[in-house]
Amino acid sequence: MSTQAAPELLIVMGPGATADQTEHVVARLAEVGVSARVSTGREATVIGAIGDRDLLASLPLEAYPGVHQVLPIVKPYKLVSRELAADLTMIDSLGRRLGDSYFGLIAGPCSVETREQTLETARVVAAAGGTMLRGGAFKPRSSPYSFQGLGQAGLEILAEAREATGLPIVTELIDVRDVEAVVTWADVIQIGARNMQNFTLLSEVGRAEKPVLLKRSPSASIEELLMAAEYVVREGNDQVMLCERGIKTFETSTRYTLDIAAVPVLKQETHLPVVVDPSHPAGRRDLVLPLTLAAVAAGADGVIVEVHPDPEQALSDGPQQIPTSDFPAFAKEVVALVELMGKTVG
Ligand code: PEP
Ligand code: MN
Repeated sequence: MSTQAAPELLIVMGPGATADQTEHVVARLAEVGVSARVSTGREATVIGAIGDRDLLASLPLEAYPGVHQVLPIVKPYKLVSRELAADLTMIDSLGRRLGDSYFGLIAGPCSVETREQTLETARVVAAAGGTMLRGGAFKPRSSPYSFQGLGQAGLEILAEAREATGLPIVTELIDVRDVEAVVTWADVIQIGARNMQNFTLLSEVGRAEKPVLLKRSPSASIEELLMAAEYVVREGNDQVMLCERGIKTFETSTRYTLDIAAVPVLKQETHLPVVVDPSHPAGRRDLVLPLTLAAVAAGADGVIVEVHPDPEQALSDGPQQIPTSDFPAFAKEVVALVELMGKTVG
């Protein structure tokens, strides 16, 4: 994996184009010092040409055998843009899938508090058909006096939960000094809303060989989220999921406003899977199911939901966590709608 420059031009090969014709285009580009990123999909092959714009414009690419169309990539995000990939990106972690036709049901506590709390939640999530287990070991809290997470001990508890259930672990990385620990112990690295534009951290996880769940900052535009993802993919890691988790608005009846329109907008703009966190925008558990169903209906590739055995005793985000006793019924409703949408829980 290596840092990539931005592709400026998109070369779409025709449906009947052969592998030799694609190779020929790539070879001609190489001759003039232009590198290429080839994406071969089920129905088409697209080549992202990376190099000087003027030089690219001077090549008669349309005339090459097999070439169907040549288009400039005008959007500021390049590697994550929908047009650059022939197929949608699918995340695979320990055989559990999310993206394309697979829906990821990610659930677990806001914070890892104790071994018992985490293992109990993990067992309930696994038994209800969940895809991955979430849980924070490093917690970014608004107040320095609030519970900050168990750190390394929390990562070890999560690893035990993975052993017990087979569920991949999603956990947040908040500091570059913890990259090695989180990448080693977790299966999916969560970059939280507060770090969405921590470009050093984004580049670090871009060099990691684990999928990344990148959360939208409550005050970031969709374009800023996509540019943040570009930082990760640019380093070579294209296993990135984008997560809408609510934005700041004037509305006070919920903790944040879930920007449900971000789902279809992102699906149009990027090949990366789109996940919705219904828990943090709701801020209260009675809204979590309707927001989850809205996310599924809007075309999300997954949800990440907070679940706790005893939310009243939770050390963080108690009011929005679903009790584990309610999770099987919750999951049943979600799975029914996922299947109605023609997808499979991964
Ligand atoms: C979390 O998922 O527990 C969390 C802190 O979320 P966010 O970064 O979206 O606030
Ligand atoms: Mn939380």
